Amino acid sequence: MSDQISITLPDGSVREYPSGVTGLEVAASISEGLARNVLAAKVNGTVQDATRPITTDAKVTLLTWNDREGKATFWHSSAHLMAEAMEALYPGVKFAIGPPVENGFYYDVDLNGQHFAQDDFKKVEEKMLELARQKNEYLRRAVPKAEAIHYFEEKGDPYKIELLEGLEDGSITFYTQGNFTDLCRGPHIPNTGFIKAAKLMNVAGAYWRGDEKNKMLTRIYAITFPKQKELDEYLHLLEEAKKRDHRRLGKELELLAFSEKVGQGLPLWLPKGTMLRERLENFLRRAQVRAGYSQVVTPHIGSKQLYVTSGHWDKYGEDSFQPIRTPDPNEEFLLKPMNCPHHCEIYKTKPRSYRDLPLRLAEFGTVYRYEQSGELHGLTRVRGFTQDDAHIFCRPDQVKDEFMKVIDLVLYVFRSLGFNDYSAQVSLRDPEKKEKYIGSDEAWAIAESAIIEAAAEKGLQTVHELGEAAFYGPKLDFKVKDALGRKWQLGTIQVDYQLPNRFELEYTGSDNQKYRPVMIHRAPFGSMERFIAILIENTGGNFPLWLSPDQIAVLPISEKYEEYANDLFLMLQESDIRGYVDLRDEKIGRKIRDAEVNKVPFMLIVGEKEQAEGMVSVRRKGEGDLGMMSVEAFTKLFQQLAQPAAQLERV
Ligand SMILES: [Zn+2]
Ligand SMILES: [Zn+2]
Repeated sequence: MSDQISITLPDGSVREYPSGVTGLEVAASISEGLARNVLAAKVNGTVQDATRPITTDAKVTLLTWNDREGKATFWHSSAHLMAEAMEALYPGVKFAIGPPVENGFYYDVDLNGQHFAQDDFKKVEEKMLELARQKNEYLRRAVPKAEAIHYFEEKGDPYKIELLEGLEDGSITFYTQGNFTDLCRGPHIPNTGFIKAAKLMNVAGAYWRGDEKNKMLTRIYAITFPKQKELDEYLHLLEEAKKRDHRRLGKELELLAFSEKVGQGLPLWLPKGTMLRERLENFLRRAQVRAGYSQVVTPHIGSKQLYVTSGHWDKYGEDSFQPIRTPDPNEEFLLKPMNCPHHCEIYKTKPRSYRDLPLRLAEFGTVYRYEQSGELHGLTRVRGFTQDDAHIFCRPDQVKDEFMKVIDLVLYVFRSLGFNDYSAQVSLRDPEKKEKYIGSDEAWAIAESAIIEAAAEKGLQTVHELGEAAFYGPKLDFKVKDALGRKWQLGTIQVDYQLPNRFELEYTGSDNQKYRPVMIHRAPFGSMERFIAILIENTGGNFPLWLSPDQIAVLPISEKYEEYANDLFLMLQESDIRGYVDLRDEKIGRKIRDAEVNKVPFMLIVGEKEQAEGMVSVRRKGEGDLGMMSVEAFTKLFQQLAQPAAQLERV
């Protein structure tokens, strides 16, 4: 047995260390800075304490705050710290579980009847930081089951005992930092000194083990950071996100509304929201015409048989809106959950030859899906929504080319709307579990390499995920980063081998034989509802000029100039400029302020001088006065600024 082991680092370099070296020591041998920042070590794929000895040759990744798993370890360790603080402040408190979440962590506690609310947060935060400054190590210890149960019996913590009952003797570990010991499998950060900022965020009720028959515990949400500055930035971001919340702005800017009487999850588009939505639709429609799509319209319902054929009924029927009946007992219809089956039937309206392909059918198709009421959220989770849907029917040899064209279109849409930071995920079949997927090996190989090559040739930044493909085909999903750095899942391009089979779609090849076309589903926005929600939050309601519901506000200084204001407005309307004349009996300052609040991009102020000279005084939101100019000069300026930013290459 050798006393030396080889450690392979992520860059591929191999270093020799004595057996028993820790992740922390490996870090120190690389640089002091790295050693100061190492939170945990990933050893042969398993995340463990950076202080644990490594005794075999291994691949090692040293995890820091910049790694997702590093953050999770930091936050989970912070849950132990919060528990220690709680125990010091609330004697007799009992602990359930304390996992990390997407932003921070929580701990479910039983306060034994003691009061705990928002006004107690500060006290706990201060205690946490006081304990953190002691730089207590998280010490790991394997414990026999009997001893572990005894420990928590002495302490009087029934939740930990219940958790222990499900664990096997020999697999149980305790971690102790300072005066607090917890049952935990780890991993944790080296010591509490890494935690420099803490904030309790929220408190809520949560049943023990998520079962409403059990006791209601108190769930305390919190977040910690390795620097105070990062906490400040995070809180600022939250504040900004709240201001930009599409539900709030959608209401304030009179874009959309919900009505209990209409029903949950069914948005009502108000005139201004409809204007915004129509502009987006027209923009995409024009781009699609240039990209060779044909627009179609199909009904909002379809016979149940249509969805039996497509397979939707078998797969989702029970959890969906139930069939619609008619006076004819033999008839049953379903609200359309997807547009694809209708489009398959359009494909079948006439014989297709290899020369007709690809056939690209596009529809702003409204679909209905039943979501649990608890899942509904503003415009991002609704029960009725409109997809910017299209289906491309093509030959297998055309898949790659079609993918490249769709990628062009999707990126054109993103860039035009100011989403310049995007990435994509290629979802592939799990090669170990081929039986889970339909379609031949050959077809999968062609489609998967077509997607990978198309994405690479378009210079897309992608990650590949094995096993993430749908059972009926591989796909490419786009994610965009918004102005606050949040990632949103947007459009999808998906290959489908199933529906052409189920609908027995065919085309005649050059050899006069019949072949199955490949079907590609794609939606750059995903849905109009979701996309507009993201657009509202990304822009904070300051939409690009070409999308703004009201692009101008004409503001007469007094009623003397109303006629001139009205004439001016009519003239601008002729040039397709939209907005309103503010004829209220209000001071001009008030009219300007209201136009600013409503996020109107241009204010045109008219008074005596403007009327006498046939001019307008122009004010741009966020920029201030642009001075007096002729109506022609303003129209020209407006039209220059009202173009979507990006250009789409013609195909
Ligand atoms: Zn733990
Ligand atoms: Zn589809």
